[in-house]
Amino acid sequence: MERPLVEESYHLSTSALKHSLARCGSSNGAIIDDQLILTTEHKQLTVNYWLENEARSLAINLCVPGNEPQRVELIPFELSFGTRYFFECPICFRQVSKLYLPPDQQDFKCRLCHRLVYELTTINKNSTFGQQLYRNACFLRFMNAPDRAIRVFYGPNYTKNYLRRMRFYRKLGLEEPGVEKVKENLALIRRQEVHH
Ligand SMILES: [Zn+2]
Repeated sequence: MERPLVEESYHLSTSALKHSLARCGSSNGAIIDDQLILTTEHKQLTVNYWLENEARSLAINLCVPGNEPQRVELIPFELSFGTRYFFECPICFRQVSKLYLPPDQQDFKCRLCHRLVYELTTINKNSTFGQQLYRNACFLRFMNAPDRAIRVFYGPNYTKNYLRRMRFYRKLGLEEPGVEKVKENLALIRRQEVHH
């Protein structure tokens, strides 16, 4: 059987619930009712949910139209700058920041339990055609990605993120962004730092 693609599946990430979690996670007995819109490239799905914090256990109940409500536990991690939450996959109990719902499925599970694969990994890179396809797919993905500013320097050194980005440019046979782009990035980073 062909394995479903990550790209074709709806995903729910804890970051999409950030505000509700911040409100609900800190007060015992709290219940929050809300709605989320999940999207794939071609489709969208409205999911009603309620979060409940009872007896020091936090859980989300997900209601997809036509399916039984599904309850998923949330695990808090205290960090120095606040609390980060993870879903507990209902099947394997791993702590994950994303749950997936592939087309024609009933339940949210982690990527491994749904046996999802990334589209890029399904391309056979051993053939010339496959290599070309892979490059094109990489390029498209790169072009469609939001052009996020990344930090260029950490002290006197380049950041790992920046070096990774540069390797990626080179692999695609693209020209590295010139000094102008780096300056732009730096200006953006400075502006972000001023605001925070
Ligand atoms: Zn799992």
